Amino acid sequence: MRIPLIAGNWKMNLNEQQAVTLARKLLWSQQHAPARGVEILLCPPFTALSQLHKLLVGSQIKLGAQNMADQVKGAFTGEISPVMLVEFCSYVILGHSERRAIYGETNDLINRKVKNALAHSLVPILCVGETLEEKESGKAHEVVYSQMIEGLKEVPVYSGEQLVVAYEPVWAIGTGRTATAEDANSLIAATIRPALVRLFGEGVNAQIRVLYGGSVKPDNARGFFRQSEIDGALVGGASLDAESFSGIIEAAG
Ligand code: PEP
Repeated sequence: MRIPLIAGNWKMNLNEQQAVTLARKLLWSQQHAPARGVEILLCPPFTALSQLHKLLVGSQIKLGAQNMADQVKGAFTGEISPVMLVEFCSYVILGHSERRAIYGETNDLINRKVKNALAHSLVPILCVGETLEEKESGKAHEVVYSQMIEGLKEVPVYSGEQLVVAYEPVWAIGTGRTATAEDANSLIAATIRPALVRLFGEGVNAQIRVLYGGSVKPDNARGFFRQSEIDGALVGGASLDAESFSGIIEAAG
């Protein structure tokens, strides 16, 4: 049994006070109507991590970061180390399509980040997914399979708790277009799961959670969560609204 994970990626939104206000609303809603059997994760900007950690410690809501360096310490201006994050977070999103497309992150760099996260007890959420052009030219399988194999090359994962994968078709992120739940499930079954089996074996694959991401909203979430290979969601836009995010959490319960 894989416990569903609902993760909110707040991206470059909300100052510290706004982040605390949103987290308080979510905490309140979980205290009054707790989602049973669902893991909840918030990934705010770095600047809000310390305050949110104080607010959420001891609650069922966990914290993650949105990115991280492939280094540990030293002259890396503007970067953030897993050693700094692990004080506040248990997860880190790596290889998000915005990092790949806007900042030129390669599978090789993402692979070093994944290893760095694991070496410091952070659980990487590895994002993979094809662009519209790749999808239309029939390359979705090939692209996603290489993102998996190269991004997870020589990565020491021995249990499903150490890694999460998020399948996020790039054309569905922030666009209001979603993959159909059945198509997303088929791609995961035909591409992501075989890569996980090749990398880590059947037993570990069966424990690793694969999320769907791309315009998930309260009214379409249930369709994704009904799929056998979808173990939750990575949510962008809808995670910035307490009611919408709570609706998605509820749909996973
Ligand atoms: C994301 O950024 O990971 C994402 C899925 O965004 P949205 O839900 O807004 O499409």
